[in-house]
Amino acid sequence: MTITVVGSIAFDGLETPSGVRERIAGGAAFHFAQAASFYTDVRVVGPVGDDFSDEDMALLATRGTNTDDVERIAGGKTFFWKGKYHDDLNTRDTITTELNVFETFDPKLSDASKASEVLFLANIVPGLQRAVRAQCEAAKWVALDSMDLWIDIMRADLVAAIGEVDCLILNDGELQQLTGARTTYAAAQAIFGWEKAPSAIIAKLGSYGATLYTNDGGGFTVPVFPLENVVDPTGAGDTFAGGVVGYVAARLAKDPGLKVDRDVLAAALIHGTATASHNVEAFGAEKLADLPGSEVQARVDRLVELTRSPDATIELRA
Ligand code: AMP
Repeated sequence: MTITVVGSIAFDGLETPSGVRERIAGGAAFHFAQAASFYTDVRVVGPVGDDFSDEDMALLATRGTNTDDVERIAGGKTFFWKGKYHDDLNTRDTITTELNVFETFDPKLSDASKASEVLFLANIVPGLQRAVRAQCEAAKWVALDSMDLWIDIMRADLVAAIGEVDCLILNDGELQQLTGARTTYAAAQAIFGWEKAPSAIIAKLGSYGATLYTNDGGGFTVPVFPLENVVDPTGAGDTFAGGVVGYVAARLAKDPGLKVDRDVLAAALIHGTATASHNVEAFGAEKLADLPGSEVQARVDRLVELTRSPDATIELRA
C-alpha cells in the first residue's frame, strides 16, 4: 500500500534553545516521509530548486521514499522557512517564509503516484492540495493538514479541500480559528456539521499530545511521549501525521476492506506520537533518518501502557 504525499520540501533555518542550523533540509512533506517510510512505501510530490543537492534528495529518499515526482525547477530556489523558538519550545516566531518554486508549482502526478490508495495532503496552499486530490482518484483514505496562514487568507479554498478528505489533522488553536468555536470539541462538531466534512478530526495539542474525534461520537486522547529534553520541535506535526497515516496504510495493506474507525485511528495516534517523539530529539532528520524501526515500536509499547485505563466503576453517592 503506497502513500502519496504533497507538501513543502524546504530548506529550514532553525534557532532553538539547543542550537542553530542555518539551512537544513526540511518541509512538511519531507518530515512526513521520514516517519511514514517506517510503515510503507511513500511517494513525494513537490518542487525543489537547483539548490536542493543530491545529498538533500538522498535524505528525502530515506527508507526507500520515491522522489520521481519531485520536480527540480531549473533556475528556481527551494522553499525557505526560518523559525525561532521561545524558551518554552511551545511557541515560535516565523522569521522568513520564501515560497520560491511553490509560487508557480502546478502538480502533475505520474501514474504511479496517482494510483496510491492512501494520500496525505501536507500543509501547502489549499488549491494545490485540491489539485492533487483530484488526480488521485484511486485514493481510499485521505488526510489533510494545514496552518493558520491559509485559514487567514484562503479560508474558502481550505474548507473545500477539507470537504474532500476522510481525516483532518490540525492544531487545537487552528481548529478553533477555523470555526470560531470556543473548545476543540465544539470546533470538531462544527466541522462534522458542514455539508461536506471528514469523518475523523485529529487535534494536535502541542506538548500536551493529541485528541481524536470521529463523527460517530468516538474519541481518544494520547499524551506526548515523556522526554527529558526536546532539541527541535520543527516538523513534529508532520512526523506525527507520518506515523498516523503510515500506520493506517499498513493496516489497510493487511486488510483492504478495513473500516478506518475510532480503534484504528486511536492506535494510529499512538504511532504518530512515537515517531514525533524521536523527531524532536534532534534537528531536521538528524535522528529519524538512521533510526531503527524497533526504537519506534519500543515507544509505541510504552504509550500503549501509559494510555491503558483500569475499570473506573465505583458506587457513587446519590
Ligand atoms: P511543523 O513544525 O509541523 O509546523 O512543520 C514545520 C515545517 O513546515 C518546516 O520544515 C517548514 O519548512 C514547513 N513550513 C513552514 N511554513 C510553511 C508554509 N507556509 N507552507 C508550507 N510549509 C511550511
